Amino acid sequence: MTNCLLPQLAFHRMESAGAERHRREAREVSEWRERIKRSTIFRMENAFTGKPHVIIVGAGFGGLEAAKHFACENMRVTVIDRTNYHLFQPLLYQVATAALSPADIAAPVRAVLSKCRNVEVILAEVQSVDVDAKKVKTVDLEIDYDYLILATGARHSYFGHNEWEKLAPGLKSLEDAVELRRRILLAFEYAEKTTDESARRAAMNFVIIGGGPTGVEMAGAIAEISRYTLAKDFRHINPSEARVILIEGEPRLLAAYPPDLSESARKQLVELGVEVRTSIRATNLTEAGVQIGDEFIPCRVKIWAAGNNASFVGKTLGTPVDRVGRVVVNDDLTIPGHPEVQVIGDLANFPQQTGEPLPGISPVAMQQGRHAARNVLAIIKGRKPQRFRYRDKGTMATIGRNKAVADLKFIHLSGLPAWLAWLFVHIVFLVGFRNRLLVLFQWAWAYLTFDKGARLITRNFQSEQRPAA
Ligand SMILES: Cc1cc2nc3c(=O)[nH]c(=O)nc-3n(C[C@H](O)[C@H](O)[C@H](O)COP(=O)(O)OP(=O)(O)OC[C@H]3O[C@@H](n4cnc5c(N)ncnc54)[C@H](O)[C@@H]3O)c2cc1C
Repeated sequence: MTNCLLPQLAFHRMESAGAERHRREAREVSEWRERIKRSTIFRMENAFTGKPHVIIVGAGFGGLEAAKHFACENMRVTVIDRTNYHLFQPLLYQVATAALSPADIAAPVRAVLSKCRNVEVILAEVQSVDVDAKKVKTVDLEIDYDYLILATGARHSYFGHNEWEKLAPGLKSLEDAVELRRRILLAFEYAEKTTDESARRAAMNFVIIGGGPTGVEMAGAIAEISRYTLAKDFRHINPSEARVILIEGEPRLLAAYPPDLSESARKQLVELGVEVRTSIRATNLTEAGVQIGDEFIPCRVKIWAAGNNASFVGKTLGTPVDRVGRVVVNDDLTIPGHPEVQVIGDLANFPQQTGEPLPGISPVAMQQGRHAARNVLAIIKGRKPQRFRYRDKGTMATIGRNKAVADLKFIHLSGLPAWLAWLFVHIVFLVGFRNRLLVLFQWAWAYLTFDKGARLITRNFQSEQRPAA
């Protein structure tokens, strides 16, 4: 008898356990909804404190500069970023080539802004902006603003070949840099192990697509680690035999630089052993290699440094964007019809000064960040916002040890002087005292010893070889 009841009893228990789980889940969902509602209401209530509320989306070069400008002003500032750190992108290539560790070139946004008591930081990805309702929307928040500074930067563009992204990662984020470092170091490991001569050769071919500053820096750095850093570490291969091939569609490298510096960059790369191919484009990418013109270059590691697309958030403003998604801004960085919204940095197309968009470089973003903040303060204080004007102090790109080019406007530098200027500027602008000291020490060490300390392959190599379960 008891035995007959057992299955029923068990069934009842299962049923009530299932119902209990349902109730618990429903309770959790409703609590979660309530929390979101509360957080929105909290922010809206805060908006009635009478202080103007500025939202800055993006804590990159432009956004962070704007936020710092608002410190201690009588206003509320909310900085929203999808990462919790400010990234010093110009040194990403050094993480990708094992010279620096990720933490050396990133500073926590909260720490950078901790002394600005009127500035709040939110870790969230902004999905869209409703400029008519003056709201910024994330997955779980809607936040009202009085003024908005949008500075969400850019990503890579694969010119309609999004399937190439997996084959040839670009270099925009820390994740990209760590992934490239992994691929570069794994290629040498693979070459060391394989007994197949053609596979070994392919593993030691590194193809970089795009001869702008990023492509030039990556090509130079890979040539350097293969020629110097790794030269003595392997027993079955000679890393200095690695082929580094830099492909550029235009007739010269660094197309935005003066022609003499482009030529100098080419010569310095060739001295390092880089094969520079100009006026030729990659027409196809596969796991096995890269097709350029009639030639197929077998290679494991392909790096994309060829194009940019502005962040998707710009398109949600409902105002005109250019071919690569940059928001076309007025001469004071506002958008048409919305004097309370400013767009800056890599996300903005500001053609008023030269007839062309300003270059996507950090000084433009920083100057625009400061200008946008000054304009917001001017409006709040009842003054007229000012037109933006970029002060161009020049550009520089590094190629390797004692090798660089610098266009300082009044003088063009190449080689050691350019490299020293590059070192100085990058140390000065690196955010955070600790980072500056660490990077300076590691550069000094690498200079003396050719050693690059961050040669870590940080994903389980074995697990990638295992067949799917
Ligand atoms: C590899 C590399 C090398 C470079 N080298 C140089 C150099 O040597 N010299 C130079 O002057 N410039 C260099 N640049 C260009 C320079 O880094 C950029 O021009 C500059 O970072 C642009 O600043 P920004 O504020 O517009 O955007 P970013 O600095 O890119 O900041 C954008 C911020 O927005 C955040 N964000 C993006 N989308 C969202 C979202 N939906 N929600 C919330 N947050 C979001 C990002 O996390 C990021 O923090 C280099 C760039 C790269 C990629």
